Amino acid sequence: MAVIASLLLGLGAAVWGLDAAAGKVDITPDMSRPVYLAGFGAAGRRALGVHDPLYARLLMMREGSRTVALVGVDLLGLGRGEVEAVREASGFKGAGRRLFLAATHVHSGPDTVGLWGPLPGVSGVDPSYLKMLAERIAAGLARLEARLEPVSLEACLGRLEPRGLCADLRDPAVLDPGLPALRLRDRSGRPLATVVNWSCHPEASGRGNRLITADYPGELCAEVERGGGECLFLNGAIGGLLTAQTGPGRDGFSEARRIGRAVARAALRGLAGSTAKDPRPALGFRSRGIKVPVENSLYLVFLRQLANGRALYDAQGRVLAEPAWRISLRHSLGRLEPGQRPWVESEVSVVDIGPVRLLGVPGEIFPELVIGGYDGRLSFGRPLVKASNPAPPQLSRAPGPPYLAGLFGKPVPMLAGQANDELGYIVPEYDFKASPRLLMRPRPEGDHYEETNSLGPSAARIVLGAARSLLAAPR
Ligand SMILES: [Zn+2]
Repeated sequence: MAVIASLLLGLGAAVWGLDAAAGKVDITPDMSRPVYLAGFGAAGRRALGVHDPLYARLLMMREGSRTVALVGVDLLGLGRGEVEAVREASGFKGAGRRLFLAATHVHSGPDTVGLWGPLPGVSGVDPSYLKMLAERIAAGLARLEARLEPVSLEACLGRLEPRGLCADLRDPAVLDPGLPALRLRDRSGRPLATVVNWSCHPEASGRGNRLITADYPGELCAEVERGGGECLFLNGAIGGLLTAQTGPGRDGFSEARRIGRAVARAALRGLAGSTAKDPRPALGFRSRGIKVPVENSLYLVFLRQLANGRALYDAQGRVLAEPAWRISLRHSLGRLEPGQRPWVESEVSVVDIGPVRLLGVPGEIFPELVIGGYDGRLSFGRPLVKASNPAPPQLSRAPGPPYLAGLFGKPVPMLAGQANDELGYIVPEYDFKASPRLLMRPRPEGDHYEETNSLGPSAARIVLGAARSLLAAPR
């Protein structure tokens, strides 16, 4: 009997190509120390307590000698130095072991970027928190490695009407209705992991909130997990600026629940009717290093925070010996010529899981750079450009197709922002209106906040160029 059982198992192992395991680790900060909440351009939001826990959600996959760990963190973002620290701690540095980390961009978690401390210009980052984060993710991944089991995959492209859930604050009104999802099932057919990809800022709890919360992504994952298995949420193209649409006067936490549950249920409906099934999905990973100039004069003032854990380069790609604080000082004294601006290193990455192709971009990319929508077909009841806009985008200068979404070459494209780095907004070059010269001024009237939280007008061209060539490369 035992021989027959092992024969069957052996046959099963030959049929199933992908092994996977999923889990989550609690990354809620220790409240016995001061915790400053990241987001909203305001500093000094010291957390008063915890509404619901923050998690790092982990999905490990292995095919043959190739292992890929997908990690989703309930944080605003992690810079390249912190991502590298997680990779180092987890032993994911070699060619056959790759780690892809994306932040949900929640605005009610601890400052992990260095821009939201007790006062403007003072970092709120607690180094001991970052250390704990890397250690817990590493320990969680080590546990998963011992639990890998054969899985099958189903995936769907999905679509969700954004009205009532997500609003676009900056013209042109372009919202991504895409709701791609994938589900891995174990041999018995039980859900092992579900990945949901949707695009909207997780800030339903509001700028007045002082409690730690995972916002709608936490509610979304809780709803998915009620049906079994673990959930991993990847936030998509949220720049320019897609934000949770909450009802006036409504409680932010119940709005986060309403939005999270609506997105979860739509994703589950999509998966129930999914046509992209793959009993033996192949796994792939590739990435491309990029260098982007720091053109934003505000970022040059705060260069020490931006440079934390990463090298600075000159325009020829040579590592700069001059420390960040001295470059900042020279900039502040007006002694930094445009050609002497530093460049930072980042990355664009692609993960293939059977019919799913996941592209990771290192910041908040504007949806029109991904899906177009300049014809108004993705404005969902809003005018493409508000009549009251004092400085409307010059749509005649907007780039034409093909847009990024059309270049994936796989049935189920996914895009994760804040992936493997956080460089701020990735603004279309034609619509970059603030002058990057002196504290991002002058700025035209209207909505141009995003420029002040961007590396500069060149970032979009460089990130898109790397993404296009990665998507076009053979696997
Ligand atoms: Zn944002």
